[in-house]
Amino acid sequence: MTASASSATNRVFNFSAGPAALPESVLREVQDEMLCLPGAGASLLEISHRDKLFVDILHDAQDTLRSLLGISEDYSVMFMQGGATLQFSAIAANLLRGSGKRAEYLLTGSWGKKAIAEAKKEGDAVAIYDAKETNYDRLPTASDYTVSDDAAYLYYCSNETIQGVQYPSEPDCPDSVPLVSDASSDLLCRPVPVDRYGLLYACAQKNAGPAGVTMVVMRKDLLERADPNTPGYLYYKNHHDNDSEWNTPPTFAIYVLGKVARWLRDEIGGLEAMEKINREKSDSLYKIIDGSNGFYRGHAQQDCRSLMNVTFNLPSDDLTAKFIAEAATHRLAALKGHRSVGGIRASIYNAMPREGVETLGQFMTDFAAANG
Ligand SMILES: *Cc1c(COP(=O)(O)O)cnc(C)c1O
Repeated sequence: MTASASSATNRVFNFSAGPAALPESVLREVQDEMLCLPGAGASLLEISHRDKLFVDILHDAQDTLRSLLGISEDYSVMFMQGGATLQFSAIAANLLRGSGKRAEYLLTGSWGKKAIAEAKKEGDAVAIYDAKETNYDRLPTASDYTVSDDAAYLYYCSNETIQGVQYPSEPDCPDSVPLVSDASSDLLCRPVPVDRYGLLYACAQKNAGPAGVTMVVMRKDLLERADPNTPGYLYYKNHHDNDSEWNTPPTFAIYVLGKVARWLRDEIGGLEAMEKINREKSDSLYKIIDGSNGFYRGHAQQDCRSLMNVTFNLPSDDLTAKFIAEAATHRLAALKGHRSVGGIRASIYNAMPREGVETLGQFMTDFAAANG
């Protein structure tokens, strides 16, 4: 057996929250092209970002995202570095700094809290809803918050990766206010009405590719709002005007992201088909949680359970540790929950095969029967 064949056999069902599982067919394509990208005579890792071969790859990744998400020409699709975390600052630097307005935030988990902390360095940023009293297990209802008509923007996180709380649809937002979303852990899991947004962004390493690249989809008229004296890398207009090549972009990450997007379009059949699969996968685990007579307790309230991150607790820390250790013997890996929620987190992004979820579901059922 060759080394690569044996390591492929050793692949686990990887429930990591991020960087996370990638489609195996994409990894194989990358492997095939690693030494020599067709037409390049070199690895993609070794060619210039100005090389037409790479520029075509970048454009293809943008076009595939546009077709998957139905992104119109009113929006720019940019690839940036700095992860989702840099966007916390960039959004506020471009849309809040010097505006004389206030930015309004809906806080439904850990990432929203981090985002508002950065925005406060740029201007007046206020949480108009904060679910901290219930340890971020829920979403606001429409009567829980009011967005000002003249807010700089309304910010929310569509899927809180740590808590496993996902908005089923966009929060209410006046037409006059740009809606901004951190969709890092759920962009591409289902169709999105992009035209409702001023800006949405996602780092790739959860649901769309490797670490190193962040997708930013921004309504073009908003590009003009920022002060040109904004630090250059944070100034969206630099990235838009230079087609994501204002400086050297993360070429390898964009290349893999493009392949994942093509996999979604060509092998899965687009975002509606993907959502159907994601619902089947997540429903099957939530059903086991709900049918366990309280052995498993879901963290998120039922109406906001995530399709991507299934979070639950067991009766004790000892049982949680036993669950994780025994799961590993079934090739079920990276299930430990984040310390702020505890318990188990099964991240079942697009690339997690049904078989992995079925294996986990069977293990959960057997474990509850043996230990309940
Ligand atoms: C992972 C994650 C982030 C942070 O991403 P980085 O690329 O590490 O900065 C932000 N928001 C959400 C929702 C995430 O899942």
